[in-house]
This record gives sequence, structure tokens and C-alpha cells, in this order.
Amino acid sequence: MRLHFYPFANVNNTIRMREGRLHVRLSDLLEGAPESVLHAIAHVLLAKLYRKPVDAGQLGRYRRYVAGHDISAKAHLLRQMRGRKRIGPAGGDVYHLEEVFDDLNQRFFHGLLARPQMTWSQSKSRHSLGHYDPSHNAIVISRVFDHSRVPRYALEYIMYHEMLHLRHPVKLKGSRRCVHSKEFLAEERLFPQLREAKAFLKVL
Ligand SMILES: [Zn+2]
Repeated sequence: MRLHFYPFANVNNTIRMREGRLHVRLSDLLEGAPESVLHAIAHVLLAKLYRKPVDAGQLGRYRRYVAGHDISAKAHLLRQMRGRKRIGPAGGDVYHLEEVFDDLNQRFFHGLLARPQMTWSQSKSRHSLGHYDPSHNAIVISRVFDHSRVPRYALEYIMYHEMLHLRHPVKLKGSRRCVHSKEFLAEERLFPQLREAKAFLKVL
């Protein structure tokens, strides 16, 4: 089975079977949708593929989600078009973000996380050290970390935090975007050099 999130202009999802392989394309507007919604989409698509009746409850759940996200979807597209050029190379003077990501992925996630776009921030921001941007599917790390006096574990800690955002998709609560659930925080505490990293960030 191959599943891709695709930058469809509308919420559009396709499924087809070719040479014994299932090809699924979901709109990238659905990236970060709650698991119950993704489950509903899977149900609807599989029912279509096998020409079985679609469960009304599942279809309803999917439609309500899409309707509720109509406006934010448009905003998302706009951001995506306007901001496309801001994604720069992952390589820096000292650290290569993709290399750091791949290493952490092996060490902590069994290599299972799909690597998003990786980029350094434009400025050496101390205000925003890192963030995951779902509209670009990109992890952005402050360029302040691309320096030889920055220990690798400090950069790794920031990256690990953003990788946890990939693993624990943001649940929109009002206007709050960055939600650190109890599970998120428990997993963050598993980072081996947590204390050293936090101490370093204080003097950064
Ligand atoms: Zn966060």
C-alpha cells in the first residue's frame, strides 16, 4: 500500500488498486486530522473501492470535519502559495538537519517517522527556537543552533520536540495551535540529555 498526502487544490482523495497494490492519495489539507477522521476517510475510500455501501456515520464524520475546516483550508493554501520560497536547504555551516532528523528517527522512533521538509529559519531567532509548520509540512529550526559552540544534544532536543509534534498531531483547541498533551510531555522526558539541553537553552 502506498499512501501520499497530496497538495490537491480542493479536499480530494483517491484510491485505486493497481497490480495488487493499493494507491491512496489524500489531500494534504487532511494532514494532522484526528485519527477518527482519518479512520472515516479510510472507511469511505475502501467502501468505494469495493463498491460496498458507505456507512452513513463514517461519511458524516468525514463531511463535518471537511466543512468545519473549509475556511482554514483556504487560509492554509494561501500560506502555502505565499510562503513556498521560504523553505531553504537543510544543510547548514555546522549541522545538517536531515542528518540529525534521520539519526533521531532511528534512535527513538524505529525509523518510522516520514521526514518532512527541513529548513533553518531565516534569522537567528532566540524567540522561536523551532516549530513544525503543517501548512508546508516542514520543521523549521532557528539558525542560532547552526554554530560550533552549540552542542549537538541541544539541537537534537529541539528537533526531538518537533518530531514529537509529528507523532502527536495538533488537536485544535480554539485558536491554540501548539498543544503539548500529557502523552507528548511524557515522551519528551525520555530524551536522555533533557537536563543538559534545557540548561544550555537558558544561556543561549
Ligand atoms: Zn511544541
